[in-house]
Amino acid sequence: MNEIIFATGNENKVKEVKFALDGILSIKGLKDIGCTTDLPETKDTFEGNALQKAQYVVDNFKVDCFSEDTGLEIEALDMKPGIYTARYAGPNRDKNANMDLVLKNLTGKTNRKARFRTAIALIVNGKPHIFEGICNGKIATERMGNEGFGYDPIFIPDGFDRSFAQMSKAEKNEISHRGIAIRKLIAFLKDK
Ligand code: IMP
Repeated sequence: MNEIIFATGNENKVKEVKFALDGILSIKGLKDIGCTTDLPETKDTFEGNALQKAQYVVDNFKVDCFSEDTGLEIEALDMKPGIYTARYAGPNRDKNANMDLVLKNLTGKTNRKARFRTAIALIVNGKPHIFEGICNGKIATERMGNEGFGYDPIFIPDGFDRSFAQMSKAEKNEISHRGIAIRKLIAFLKDK
């Protein structure tokens, strides 16, 4: 296999995944197969949502594909926002409002431990496969850096004193939830 559909409408994810794949595998987006709808995402786990999105594309476009779902889990907030990470501060998916709400809800809390989790669901020949990636870290007390996307400015991975938004693409990819999950996907697809 040398080409596969990545079922996502998120251009930031496409950029990171293309970088991680480093030409090993080329990916096509939803637009390339004429899919312009918002993919359904109504399950209560990352795995469930990733699988639901991939299954939608398989059912409607009859192609092999993979999808991913990612969320931020914060210990002191009972592992929230979790599956609600994109809409934590409301339906607009506003990253600044989301980060502001996390910082506000952690005011006065000493435990700032958090983790990003990615679940990739691949469906090949009708068969589903799940690959997971976790990156442990903590929530900063204020935004740091301008790289990356989403919550990157307030997430400091373990072993660093810089946020994801202060790292290059290569540095983030090396340790990130998505980078870890993608390397598992690549290892699996190499044999296909
Ligand atoms: P979804 O997987 O597209 O539902 O995204 C969930 C939420 O997590 C969105 O608000 C994204 O911006 C955010 N997100 C996903 N991946 C990352 C990441 O690598 N860094 C920071 N935020 C992320």
